[in-house]
Amino acid sequence: MSSSQTTQSARPALVDAVPKDLFIGGSWQQATSGKTFDVLDPATGEVLCAVADASPEDGRRALDAAVAAQPAMAALSPRQRADILTRAFDLLHQRIDDLAALMTAEMGKPLAEARGEIVYAAEFLRHFAGEAVRIDGGFQVSPAGDARFLITKQPVGVALLITPWNFPMAMGTRKLGPAIAAGCASVIKPAPQTPLSMLALIDILREAGLPDGGVNLITCTDAGGVLEPMIRSGLARKLSFTGSTKVGRILLEQCAEKVLRTSMELGGNAPFLVFDDADLDEAVTGAVQAKMRNMGEACTAANRIYVQSGVIDEFGRRLAARMAELTVGPGTGDGVQVGPLIDAAALTKVTELVQDAVDRGASVLTGGVPLGGRGYFYPPTVLSGVPREARMSDEEIFGPVAPLTPFEDEDDAVALANDTEFGLVSYVFTNDLRRALRMAERIESGMVGLNQGVVSNPAAPFGGVKQSGLGREGGAIGIDEFLETKYIGIAMPK
Ligand code: NAP
Repeated sequence: MSSSQTTQSARPALVDAVPKDLFIGGSWQQATSGKTFDVLDPATGEVLCAVADASPEDGRRALDAAVAAQPAMAALSPRQRADILTRAFDLLHQRIDDLAALMTAEMGKPLAEARGEIVYAAEFLRHFAGEAVRIDGGFQVSPAGDARFLITKQPVGVALLITPWNFPMAMGTRKLGPAIAAGCASVIKPAPQTPLSMLALIDILREAGLPDGGVNLITCTDAGGVLEPMIRSGLARKLSFTGSTKVGRILLEQCAEKVLRTSMELGGNAPFLVFDDADLDEAVTGAVQAKMRNMGEACTAANRIYVQSGVIDEFGRRLAARMAELTVGPGTGDGVQVGPLIDAAALTKVTELVQDAVDRGASVLTGGVPLGGRGYFYPPTVLSGVPREARMSDEEIFGPVAPLTPFEDEDDAVALANDTEFGLVSYVFTNDLRRALRMAERIESGMVGLNQGVVSNPAAPFGGVKQSGLGREGGAIGIDEFLETKYIGIAMPK
């Protein structure tokens, strides 16, 4: 295998500097039980530090603090909210080296990718600073001419924000940006594997001028036990969740009781289609990006690669060669392009999914065996001839594994692409404009990448259809997830 694995790993100074407690009502506080849990470095499996483990009582205190702060958040002028976000944007850029090192330590991604995520995360703050001052309304004459309609938008109220571990900073700013821009106080709960980036962001938001209680943060190991009473209390009016479809379904049920507004950014199973008229080098580059960003641990990751039968062998050869050249190692290593998976469970899952595909007849073009040693490393892998019955046709791989399957024509490609309960993103590579548009219209996904392997952009509406979610984050409409529309009818007898 030409993937090389380096062994060095370093603990950045910011791990010690970052607060480890709960942030409630504007102050850092220990968990009432005094309990903590460990955060591990996925490159070594060693403990980085311990953070506070909130109880349901702590969750309730955080929620009460947000409720108390809601009037002050709503009373900030649009410009004041925009200025907080703009200052936070500047601070993220000023501290990018430290924040990237912190993210690599807790999540494993290579430093260059961590820097890229800080830039991406900061962009949500800048984008929503712009949206804060553009919240619009309307004025209308009633059809009968006997009344006037005033239409205005107000913050939805206190928001609960739950984020996953794969983009520790960006998944937070993608929610906090619009929440603050809309004037919503919030409680955020990052994933237990990667709480440090959000803990660092809290200090930045404070420095940027956020009112006490405007954002509260809890970290915990019993997410269900802590969050469920908060959701069912009805004190929050909004839940914005990013994570698996399985957990999203549970949360939707809980939200139903008090009819909370919900935004659900859930799982994906992205099809990546390559037609025989595509530029194969561009398609290979796109596939490497769509597959290997974040070590394949992305909801947008190409999960099923379908290639037209006339070019699949050549595509497979070129993709396997490019994947085999990638350097695997701790994210802090020089030239490392592929870091470790997040934890032992992720490594086991990827290993099992590859074994399952091979048992059902797939061939390994490169990779295919865990690298062993310290940390949770799996090599870039390409499989050909992956049959429909393979588990990875239905399940998110969330690892650096590219499964190839042939298709014959457009109808075949559409049927394969849509044969999933998910509908987050799809990718189509073709040089035929009409075919590209036909495919984009026929594939059931919230986003489509045409001849490009990365679609995420804070200025574009991100989100899925089918069981990939509800609502959109980013773009001009992202702030609407945190706003209610109010109509005021004014009698105007003729
Ligand atoms: P997850 O297991 O669903 O967890 C996501 C978050 O929810 C974590 O903070 C988790 O905390 C918390 N959680 C779990 N059970 C909960 C419950 N009963 N009540 C309240 N909170 C609960 O997902 P993950 O493994 O962290 O992330 C990977 C998944 O996220 C993938 O499916 C991926 O596709 C999806 N994702 C989607 C997007 C998108 O924009 N559509 C973006 C990124 C990731 P604990 O870990 O403590 O349980």
